Amino acid sequence: MNIHSLSVKELNNKLNKKEISCKEIVESFLSRIEKVEPKVKAFLYTNGDRARKKAEEVDKKISSGAKLKPLEGIPIAIKDNMCTEGMPTTCASKILSDFKPPYSADVINRIEATGMIIIGKTNMDEFAMGSSTENSAYGATRNPWDPERAPGGSSGGSAAAVAADEAPLALGSDTGGSIRQPASFCGVVGLKPTYGRVSRYGLIAFASSLDQIGPITREVYDSALLFQAIAGHDPKDSTSAGLSVPEITDFLKKDIKGLRLGIPREYFNPEMDSEVKNKISEAIKKLTDLGAVVKEISLPHTEYAVSVYYIIATAEASANLARYDGVRYGSRANKAENLFQMYSLTRGEGFGTEVKRRIMLGTYALSAGYYDAYYLKAQKVRTLIKNDFDEAFKACDAIITPTAPTPAFKLGEKSTNPLEMYLSDIFTISVNLAGIPGISIPCGFSKGNLPIGLQILGRPFDEGTILQIAYNFEQATGYHLRKTNI
Ligand code: GLN
Repeated sequence: MNIHSLSVKELNNKLNKKEISCKEIVESFLSRIEKVEPKVKAFLYTNGDRARKKAEEVDKKISSGAKLKPLEGIPIAIKDNMCTEGMPTTCASKILSDFKPPYSADVINRIEATGMIIIGKTNMDEFAMGSSTENSAYGATRNPWDPERAPGGSSGGSAAAVAADEAPLALGSDTGGSIRQPASFCGVVGLKPTYGRVSRYGLIAFASSLDQIGPITREVYDSALLFQAIAGHDPKDSTSAGLSVPEITDFLKKDIKGLRLGIPREYFNPEMDSEVKNKISEAIKKLTDLGAVVKEISLPHTEYAVSVYYIIATAEASANLARYDGVRYGSRANKAENLFQMYSLTRGEGFGTEVKRRIMLGTYALSAGYYDAYYLKAQKVRTLIKNDFDEAFKACDAIITPTAPTPAFKLGEKSTNPLEMYLSDIFTISVNLAGIPGISIPCGFSKGNLPIGLQILGRPFDEGTILQIAYNFEQATGYHLRKTNI
């Protein structure tokens, strides 16, 4: 029996029945990491000693006769843009290479309060800017389904770690698709909650009006559990919603008979990748077989989403990244002869090409004379995109689309053409602009055995319904059971 291949439910069962110890679970994942990391490179840091210590505490609890809750003692991998007290938090950037935060993010406190065990920090595109994890200052992560290919990004390390059984659970962050697109490329489940549902306190900011943390897991059930553990109001984040979170696993007990699913015309066009198109059509057929009612809808402002996103996200990034000046934050360049030179050398040496490109784009969009033409205009179109969804949700309970236009692309295939890379986010970006929740689940494989993802979008704060649809689909198809050969 490979402990690292067991589902979270099985791990919890076996722990409670004392068939395995938490120490064995942690050791199994640590040795799995050691074995496959040379090929996958999903982790920037592993937390072995501390994880072993936590496991001992859990084992003591079991031997005292206590029953463990579903996620207690389960290892979890954390994207390296979430602050973990006393552990490195680099954002995959050289500028934060020595940063050890003095406090933990709200999600980390909740993870620890639930009893999960942090097994390590995962690779990502620097400051979460990218769709392939190739923008990491520490080298690219590889897709466990085909190491020549990208795992997607920017949460590529988290998605690859889960797909390769290096961790049963992970956290990612999603500003324009960074949980859902890597989940799609790696054949796992990625949930982006509603904006405001999960605290951003301690998440290193990229674009503050878009960023959300969410679960990356092997199964929908685990996604629901992990979502429940991290969601809820946090007074330390001014954009955190003051709403209570319903019992999410209750949604998984319901079927989907009579649910109305919208299929947006604008997401399907004749030039679409034929394998993606076929798998999405099959998935829609399956959902109809399960009793859902499908109707065509229109989201007319979809075509502006990529342009609007790359103005708003870069504008916010240029402001957020101003703090890395070698004084307040970040490693400092030591050859400078005066203050100005210190700033420019620090930032010149510390940031990678894509981050610099975004800072320049964003600064331009915000500068006097261009602000109205770009930033303000983009904000107005953002409202139109949000209105499209509000209108659509009057007639349907959820929306079905592909997650990404293609299965995983090759490493290097798009990294020299930023525009082409930006276009790979075409189906995920408007969701962040509108602030609504979305999930990506596996819906089949290409002829080359690469996973394809189905995206399900919901009304604000209705994560329950999209998890319900995802769970019914997953249980009826079983694509989540296929494993990589890594
Ligand atoms: N790929 C998008 C970008 O490069 C989205 C990134 C994200 O969601 N963090 O900005």
